[in-house]
This record gives sequence, C-alpha cells and structure tokens, in this order.
Amino acid sequence: MNEINWKNYSLETQAIRAGHKRTHEDEHSIPIFTTSSYVFKNAEEAALRFTGQKAGNIYSRFTNPTVSAFQERLALMEQGELCLAFASGMAAIMAVGMGLLKAGDHVICSRGVFGNTVLMFQNYFGKFGVTTDFVDLTDTAAWAAAIKPNTRFLFLETPSNPLTEIADISALAGIAHQHGCLLIVDNCFCTPALQKPLTLGADIVVHSATKYIDGQGRCVGGAVVANEDIIEKQIYPYLRTGGATMSPFNAWVFLSGLETLALRMKAHCDNAFELAQWLEQQPAIAKVHYPGLLSHTQHDLAKRQQSHFGGIVSFELTGGKEAAWQLIDATEMLSITANLGDVKTTITHPASTTHGRLTPEVRAAAGIKEGLVRVSVGLEHVDDIKRDLLRGL
Ligand SMILES: *Cc1c(COP(=O)(O)O)cnc(C)c1O
Repeated sequence: MNEINWKNYSLETQAIRAGHKRTHEDEHSIPIFTTSSYVFKNAEEAALRFTGQKAGNIYSRFTNPTVSAFQERLALMEQGELCLAFASGMAAIMAVGMGLLKAGDHVICSRGVFGNTVLMFQNYFGKFGVTTDFVDLTDTAAWAAAIKPNTRFLFLETPSNPLTEIADISALAGIAHQHGCLLIVDNCFCTPALQKPLTLGADIVVHSATKYIDGQGRCVGGAVVANEDIIEKQIYPYLRTGGATMSPFNAWVFLSGLETLALRMKAHCDNAFELAQWLEQQPAIAKVHYPGLLSHTQHDLAKRQQSHFGGIVSFELTGGKEAAWQLIDATEMLSITANLGDVKTTITHPASTTHGRLTPEVRAAAGIKEGLVRVSVGLEHVDDIKRDLLRGL
C-alpha cells in the first residue's frame, strides 16, 4: 500500500488518521513507546544516525515515535512543514527564544500575552541582553513604529487572554517581513480548528497543548510549528540540547485530543456565543468581551480571520473586585482554576491569578481590570452554566 499524502485531506481527517506509522504488530491505535533509547544494527549505523545522515530514532529526548506522531499530525493541521513537541507551552516559547535570539536582539510582544510569556521575555531573555518592547495587540501602527534594526521577531496571541482582542495576522506578517523580522503567533486560543496563522503569513506557531489540544485538562505540553529551515536549524538543535521534551504518554493523550478537536471547538464556540449574548443582558455586567458579539470592536476581523469565535468569554462586573470574587465564590459547579480549554467550564479572576504577578501599571496598561472575570466555556449544557453564574449575579 502506498503511503497516504495527508496534505490532500481535510483537518478533521488528518486529526484522526495522520501521523501513525503502523508497526509490525498491526495495531489500530497509536502505541505509547516507553523507551529512553533505541538500538542500532551496528556501529556504522549508530554513527550515521548520530550525524543525521540516516533517519531514525536515537534517544527519546529528541526522537520518540509517539511524540513524532503527534508532531506530524499537528504540523499537518496547522498547514506547516514541521512541528516539535515540548514539555509545556512555556517550554515551547522558551525554545523559540533560545533558538532564534542572541544577546543584543530586540523583540516586540503584544501587551496582553499570557503572564508567564511577559516574564519570559522581560526577566529571562532580558537577563541575557535581549530587550523587549510591549505594544498594543490591535494597534498595527504601533507594531510598525516599534521595529528597530535589531528586531528579530514579533510575538502575539490572538485572540488575547483574557480580553479576546484580535490581531490582524496578515497585516502584521506584512510589516514583519518588510523589515526582515519573523511573526510568531501563539495559537492556543483558536487551535488550527479555528485559525491557521501560517496560512495568513505568520512564520511560527506556538501552542500550549495543555489547553484545547488536550481538551480535558489532563496533561501539560507544548509545540512549535514552522518551516523546515526554522525547525531544523534553529529549534531542533535547542530541543536536543535543552531537553524540555514532551513525554510519550502526554503525546499519546494529545493525539487522542486532536482526534476530537474540531468537534469540541465547534461545541465550545456554540456554548460561548450563547453565554456571551446572555451575559450582555445582565445588569451587573458592564462589558462582555467575546469576538462573536457585534459589540466587539474587531468582530469583522475575527470573522475574516477565524472560522469561529472561540470558547473564551470575559466580562467586567460593575462592582469591581469584590463583585468578581463574590460571583466566582457563589458558583456551585464551575471549576475555580486558571486552566482553560477544558470540557469543564472554568472561571478565574485574572487580576489576582494569571496576571497577578504583573505590576499594577503593566496590568492596567493591558486592560486587566479588577472587576474582570474570565470564563473558559466548557461543554456542559449552557443553561446549567448560566444558572451557575446567575447565583452570584
Ligand atoms: C497556558 C498558556 C501558555 C503556557 O502554556 P503551558 O502549557 O501552561 O506552559 C502559553 N500561552 C497561552 C496563550 C496560554 O494560555
């Protein structure tokens, strides 16, 4: 039988079938390869594999069949050339920085990114002589104005966490490339089921697989997707040396997560849209942030760039922090946890948790108000989610 070219198939099919190299045992489901190393037929073969002249597994820090299956599947779904898996989303972001940056380089990052991403650029890459400027995600002119001769890449999340602001990926890719920079998109909130940044001009996609890719809150993992040149020359050597590897067990969980990703994302989006519309009618709520709402400033851009609006809704209570905490504590079913992208609806107060380690000034500039509550809308019945929120409204 010829090997199937999965590029000719749609995302839903790739998610279920691509990446599995069936072994001599003829298994139907992908096995978990729990082996730290691999044997060579003879000394010469060992030498050829180590120099990369012959393809094949060497050591599970950088090659493992279960992890490779996950990488191949996600690369296809993102319409990228290659993918590398990591121990966490932060490890993936760290790998991009370690692979691409050197002392004296400059990075531009959107202000609303995940709290640890801000700390990664500021505190850790900063420690080694990389400077980072933070700009408003939606202000395309500000991105262009921030570019310097030593700017290496632009880094963003869209939609942003927790305000669901949308960046114009094509426009920013154009600006980046005009100045010889790369555009990196954290595609955690949309996943390839809703948005494929590489097809819009981005150079690198990073993922926290912990979120929607797993989808059921079980494992921590991350990934980087890009072209062969970037992956093989800049990211892979760092993974091999740095060692923030995804475990085969976690890869196996993420592989099954990918199989239901498109279905789950559709259901998350349907629930989130209905909840957002309902929240907009509640008198205790000053503002609802959801790209599917007509009141969202970038509704049209979201519609153009994404196939659906996502599963994250945030809203501001008129009563500030006290009202936000009261609402969270009044829920009976919702999980009070900072994780997102789970089948279980989760609720969190960003100002005191995910964004709590930022200084008040940085937090205010990012628009994270004290009365803001973020809900990652799960797959329970939407009426039950509404009822649980109503207890504290
Ligand atoms: C969670 C998250 C990360 C970090 O991923 P981990 O798997 O928790 O390390 C990065 N970016 C975004 C947008 C996230 O939500």
